[in-house]
Amino acid sequence: MLQEVALGHKTLTDYTHIVGKELTEQIRQLAEPLKGKRVLHVSATAFGGGVSEILYTMVPLMRDVGLDAHWHVIFGKEEFFNATKLLHNSLQGAEETLTDEQWEIFDEINQINAEGLQGEWDVIIVHDPQPIGLRRGANEKSKHWIWRCHIDLSTPNPAPIQRLLPMIEEYDASVWHLDDYVPNGMGAHREDVRIIPPAIDPLSPKNMAFSPEDAAFVCRQFGIDVDRPLITQVSRFDPWKDPIGVIDAYRAVTEQVPEAQLAMVGSMATDDPEGMEYFQKTFEYAGGDEDIKILSNLNNVGAIEVNAFQSQSDICLQKSIREGFGLTVTEALWKGRPTVAGNVGGIPLQIEDGVSGFLVDSPAQCAERCLDILRDPELGKKLGREGKEHARRMFLTPRLLRDWLQLIDDLDG
Ligand code: UDP
Repeated sequence: MLQEVALGHKTLTDYTHIVGKELTEQIRQLAEPLKGKRVLHVSATAFGGGVSEILYTMVPLMRDVGLDAHWHVIFGKEEFFNATKLLHNSLQGAEETLTDEQWEIFDEINQINAEGLQGEWDVIIVHDPQPIGLRRGANEKSKHWIWRCHIDLSTPNPAPIQRLLPMIEEYDASVWHLDDYVPNGMGAHREDVRIIPPAIDPLSPKNMAFSPEDAAFVCRQFGIDVDRPLITQVSRFDPWKDPIGVIDAYRAVTEQVPEAQLAMVGSMATDDPEGMEYFQKTFEYAGGDEDIKILSNLNNVGAIEVNAFQSQSDICLQKSIREGFGLTVTEALWKGRPTVAGNVGGIPLQIEDGVSGFLVDSPAQCAERCLDILRDPELGKKLGREGKEHARRMFLTPRLLRDWLQLIDDLDG
C-alpha cells in the first residue's frame, strides 16, 4: 500500500572535507551499536518541499553508516490531501479548519495506511501531520515510534491541535525544529521532546558547488540577462511564502534600480493542491512584466536549475510570513549569497540580522535591504561569507544525522 522510495547512494566520507573529521568520527561511533537496526521514515510525498529534500539524503547516509533504513510514502487521495493542506494551514494559525467529514477522511486514510504498512521495524519516524495517525493503527509494527514535526505549532488554531495532541503524545518521542514550535499543551522541557533543526545536503545537485559560468549558462536559458542584477525567491506558491509581497518589494527596488530582474522559482508538490491556484494568482499579479520570471517544475526547473538561480543571484529572498524552518534560506546561505528573509519561524536561527543576512518584516523593508546590498557589493560579500560559515557549522546533513543517531541510541539504550 505504501510506496517505497528508491534512493541513490551516499557516503559519509565524502562530507569529511566539508564538516570536519571530528563530526564524522562522532557519527561513526554513535552508529556502531545501531548497525543493522531497521529504521523506517514515513512521509506524505516524495516530491516537493523540505521533508522530501531532507530524506533523499538522510536515508542513504543512515544506510552508509550501517542502519537498515527505508523511506515509505503513504497512499492518499485528493480529498485527503485537501484536508491535510487545510490541517497544515490551520495548525499554522489559519482560521478555517477541517469539517467533521474531512476528519473522517483523515482518520480513514491513516487507518488504511496503518493496515498497509509492511514489515517489522526497530524505529518508525513519521514526518508531519498527514500520516500522524499511523501509530494508532500499527503500533505493533515497530519497537519505537518518533513523530517528526517540520512546522510551527506554537500558535495554532485550537480545534485541530486539540485533536492532534493526544496523537503526538502516543509517540515515544517528538522532534521539533525549535523550542518555540512545541505546542503549549506539551512543553519543550519534557524528555520525550527533542529540538533538532533540519539541514541541507551540500553535495546534492541542488547545493553542490557550481562555477559562475555554469550558473550563468543555465540562467541564460531561462531568459535571464546575466549582466543585470538578479533577485530570486525559490518557494512553493503558497500564501505563507508571500509571493505577492516579493513582487511588491521587487517593484519598489526597480524604482531605484530599474535594471533589476526577479526570478520566482516554485515547484508544485503533489500534496499541495493550493499550489496551482496561488501560482495563477502570482502570475496575474506579475502582470506580464518581462523582467519577472515565474518558473516551476512545469518549465523543467529542477534541482540543478534551483542551484543555478541561487548561485547566480545578487540577492536571495525568502520573504515568508510564516516558515517552518526555511531550507531555501540555508541553501542560499550555503552558496554564499546575501539573503534577505522574513523575520519568522526558523529564519532568525539562520540569519543574524546585519551579520549573516537581513531579516525583514514588510515588503518595503525588504526592498530597502535589497537596495542596500545592490548599492554596496562589499556588504553583500561580507553577509554572504558569514552566512556560509554559519550554515556550515549548523545546518548541513552530517550534523542532522548525528542528532538522529543520538536520539535512536537514547531510545534504544
Ligand atoms: N524547492 C525546489 N523547487 C522549487 C521550490 C522549492 O526544489 O521550485 C525546494 C527548495 O529548494 C527547498 C524545499 O523545496 O529545498 C523547500 O523547503 P523549505 O523548508 O524552504 O519550505 P517548505 O516547502 O518545506 O515549506
